[in-house]
Amino acid sequence: MASNLTILKQKKYFKLPPNLPSYEKAVKSFKKWSDFEGQLSFFKDHKINAAYNAIDKHIQTFRKNKVALYFESESGEKKEFSYYDLFLLSNKACNVFKDLGLEKNDRAFIFLPRIPQLFYCFLGIQKVGAVAGTLFSAFGPQALEDRLGDSQAKIIITNNELKERVEKIRHKLPNLKHVISVDNHDFIKRMEKAKDSTHVAHMEPDDYAFMLYTSGTTGKPKGVVHSHKAILMQHLTAKWVLDLHDQDTYWCTADPGWVTGIAYEILGSWSNGVTSVVYEGRFDAKKWYEILEKYAVSVWYTAPTAIRMLMAAGDDLVKNYNLSNLRHLCSVGEPLNPACVLWSQKVFGLPFHDNWWQTETGGILIANYPSMNIKPGSMGKPIPGIKAAIFDDNGEKVPFKKEGNLAIKPNWPSLMKTIWRKPKKYRSYFFFERNTNQKWYLSGDRAWQDKDGYFWFVGRADDVIKTSGERVGPFEVESALVAHPSVIEAGVIGKPDPMRGEIIKAFVVLEKSHEEKIKKSGEEKKLIEELQAFVKKRLAGHAYPREIEFIDKLPKTRSGKIMRRILKAKELGLPIGDTSTLEEY
Ligand code: ATP
Ligand code: MG
Repeated sequence: MASNLTILKQKKYFKLPPNLPSYEKAVKSFKKWSDFEGQLSFFKDHKINAAYNAIDKHIQTFRKNKVALYFESESGEKKEFSYYDLFLLSNKACNVFKDLGLEKNDRAFIFLPRIPQLFYCFLGIQKVGAVAGTLFSAFGPQALEDRLGDSQAKIIITNNELKERVEKIRHKLPNLKHVISVDNHDFIKRMEKAKDSTHVAHMEPDDYAFMLYTSGTTGKPKGVVHSHKAILMQHLTAKWVLDLHDQDTYWCTADPGWVTGIAYEILGSWSNGVTSVVYEGRFDAKKWYEILEKYAVSVWYTAPTAIRMLMAAGDDLVKNYNLSNLRHLCSVGEPLNPACVLWSQKVFGLPFHDNWWQTETGGILIANYPSMNIKPGSMGKPIPGIKAAIFDDNGEKVPFKKEGNLAIKPNWPSLMKTIWRKPKKYRSYFFFERNTNQKWYLSGDRAWQDKDGYFWFVGRADDVIKTSGERVGPFEVESALVAHPSVIEAGVIGKPDPMRGEIIKAFVVLEKSHEEKIKKSGEEKKLIEELQAFVKKRLAGHAYPREIEFIDKLPKTRSGKIMRRILKAKELGLPIGDTSTLEEY
């Protein structure tokens, strides 16, 4: 087990006092979630609406004319929207959808790139009291059919380009009543004519507010459903972990096709009244630095894949930009290699703060906070109010430093309400602790906890490798490889072996100059041995990859997660399973 001894003491870098000045105090003083409900706006009848909390509540305050959204299109077109603009536009969208027959609890999905319509249509659907869903804009017809069919969506909102994919499968979707294109004259007309005030549906806190399908990293995506009150968790974690302040300009690079984009680009972030940047285009190192500089971004929330790509683009590039407004950096979605944290400390003068959560958890559950020291490679500590623990396969807690199943004590406000039409699947997420019979939520991830209370990610339960009787997590092997100057990324799997049960195989993407060098000089074998020795020096003897293969690109989900199951299936010549979220590769 890698125990990383580096501790990054948080320098007094913050230009603003952190929203969570003392983690320990907040944990100690936490009593119950309802004590925080005062931070939300409930209607007089104690009902609630997430969209009202994200946008409408600000209209009565100084934020009315504050910029909520700076939008930049792929081609460089810029637009800005105040809270008041989004209030009016989402009211209009709500009225248009009501006119089309959308009702409480119906599902309406948005299939759009990251453009302003996505954001106000999402809010408009929630205002109707219907369930807002998102579909990532790169989905093909099969992925759409699976999701729209399973959710029995009544309306889909798309654009002229993407509409063609929906039309291909429309005949297979009897529940789908309207396919709306935001480019279409009819929709534009309807929006123009619609009233800009509306009755926002008063919802029970547990009523369904949004749903989306998981990333499909480990298998077929699941339709996870969340309630209106989930916004309490999203609001608090955006405050405590992302440390959003009124003065901030915040950029979350996620796409609302995935849960991070919904929870922290629409709901929790706007609920805190922050100014957000949305860039429509894809990842591009230069463009990203340009956006950070141009909009004077102060809080930046991104993902390990992007950070590794920025590292690969080189340190010199960073120096061309004035990034002095940056004050807090966060990462989610995959384990964050220690090398990434150390690199960002070097080039930005700020460490990335890793945090862990899942589509199913609806909000961040384990995190590094601005006021807490970072141990690079650790996910941090549970959110005040969250109890996390590590269990063995028999449902018994394991001691510190021992690896096992990461579980969370229910209920927190953003725990999923159900898996759409799969109640059995939903129930399978819970188990009872052996000795106490207490109920726990099983994450499906393996981790361990150190004596200081920090949690360390090992791997997804399906990905953990058993070699010579020892368990090895792919993350520690990948992180050791990534620390080598020639390696950009690595994906590690267990490969069946008659002697050892499994051996460790690593697929490695090399930095360009090294790649060219080994191609020219045929020194591949030498580099493999060097990498093996490099890992051996860092990890226990059995944890080095006996096989290393150099590849151009790792298979990833469209949200940037390494799909180890695909590496494994290809290696073993097995069927590769659901590929609806696989990036072109
Ligand atoms: P599927 O459930 O369909 O296989 P998925 O698990 O990738 O897809 P998400 O809900 O988007 O779908 O991702 C949650 C998972 O991502 C976590 O269970 C964990 O494996 C991984 N993850 C997220 N954040 C972190 C993190 N900070 N460190 C390590 N792993 C993380
Ligand atoms: Mg999952």
